[in-house]
Amino acid sequence: MLTDNYINGETRPAVGGATDPVVNPATGSVIGEVASSSAADVDTAVKAAAAAFAEWSAKTPRERSEILHQVADIVEENVEELSQLECLNVGKPVSIIEFEMDQLCDNWRFFASAGRFLEGKAAGEYLEGYTSMVRRDPLGVVGSIAPWNYPLFMATWKLGPPLAAGNTVVLKPSELTPYTALRLAELLDGVLPPGVFNVVCGRGETAGVALVEHPDVVMVSLTGSVAAGKSVAKHASDSLKRVHLELGGKAPVIVFDDADIEAVVANLRDNSFYNTGQDCTAPCRVIAGSRVHDDFVARLTDAAGSVVTGDPTDADTEMGPLVSDGQLDRVSGFVDRAVDAGAEVTVGGATRAGAGFFYEPSVVVGVDQASEIVQQEVFGPVISVQSVPDEETALAWANDCDYGLAASVWTNNVGRAMRMAKGLHFGTVWVNDHIPIVSEMPHGGFKLSGYGKDMSLYAVEHYTELKHVMVKH
Ligand code: NAD
Repeated sequence: MLTDNYINGETRPAVGGATDPVVNPATGSVIGEVASSSAADVDTAVKAAAAAFAEWSAKTPRERSEILHQVADIVEENVEELSQLECLNVGKPVSIIEFEMDQLCDNWRFFASAGRFLEGKAAGEYLEGYTSMVRRDPLGVVGSIAPWNYPLFMATWKLGPPLAAGNTVVLKPSELTPYTALRLAELLDGVLPPGVFNVVCGRGETAGVALVEHPDVVMVSLTGSVAAGKSVAKHASDSLKRVHLELGGKAPVIVFDDADIEAVVANLRDNSFYNTGQDCTAPCRVIAGSRVHDDFVARLTDAAGSVVTGDPTDADTEMGPLVSDGQLDRVSGFVDRAVDAGAEVTVGGATRAGAGFFYEPSVVVGVDQASEIVQQEVFGPVISVQSVPDEETALAWANDCDYGLAASVWTNNVGRAMRMAKGLHFGTVWVNDHIPIVSEMPHGGFKLSGYGKDMSLYAVEHYTELKHVMVKH
């Protein structure tokens, strides 16, 4: 169980029987082996998805919606088990998992209904003697590639919109966290027709690249790192496939001198260390007004120091381990290099001795705009804080970054909030908050954070093509 691929409604080992180990990050122990797929496995899955496309795409929006609402029912009914698997495989504390499960259940509900609202906007006589209309049609087989930080949540974003629009999908979960995708496939067996939803496990450089290069895959949707996004875009270019990329982030948190400092600190305590900071929109790059900077840093340091870290199965734990030893090396490397370059760590800054991949909640100050820790995505429980003299500089620093996924601005001045919201070059801008998302609103980045939107009707539209039909009469 939970070892084989799911293709055409059947579980199958990878051709040749290759597997990858699955590790519990809280202990560092191997807890299972999962299929490590090759191009041959991907080909079987894509062929199954291609064969299933005719029937699935021919269903009416109502018929697909009814089936996808059944999917939502099944996910909701099995939230407990799926949560436990996610905690085991990602090291998520049991105390935090409810939030993302609630969100993804709502996402399924939303996508199930949203497929009924697709429309072409024009219908009429734009040339005498002709009637034109616009059709919005599904594309075919979509290759969806998910990351490890929110395996089931991101799989939902990679599955719901394409399926709702009438496409069939081959999903490749991260090789580090395949369990919930495989369990979802088992749970949905018999609900979605065979071949509509397939799961192929394996590594990015093998199974992932094979999916991107497959000639019968018409679109690839990736949530992952910038490096993976660039590789996907390159490999997709030979066949000019559509590409949808949700990549990294480095979210600025601009705290003006008139902001409610207590609210900002409370938000960062909750959200910067949520999922051990492994969140593409995590508030991680504070740009604080020079008058409030010192007070803010003192309060944030206390708040970060109070986060309860440790065993994810303990109900009191707020922050668990990082996902892998590689991620632990990555995060500690960023902080160590920042300190070598002259930064000060006011709290944290160390790994925890013993088993598992634990790193302390950390705050780093005394960093300048060009420094690596300000410019690069750390993807761990680390917040940098800079002191900024004025609004113009705050906006310039916030935008002076290769990423453009999410940002927040904290101020009681409405005019300033509006100016910043307009000027910030990020896919989401929050004012006096940071993190809330809703199914109805788009999520997606600018610049190296990628392109395409997850969630909202815009996401469903992205998995369709527009066709102009012109009738002479
Ligand atoms: P990753 O890029 O290492 O892997 C993501 C997925 O892509 C995995 O399934 C992996 O096997 C696959 N992959 C890797 N290289 C590939 C290639 N060359 N071709 C095809 N597939 C390939 O990312 P990760 O470490 O799993 O996730 C963390 C990253 O994801 C962070 O950068 C984070 O910011 C980003 N992320 C973004 C969003 C968003 O909505 N923008 C959400 C979550 C995570």
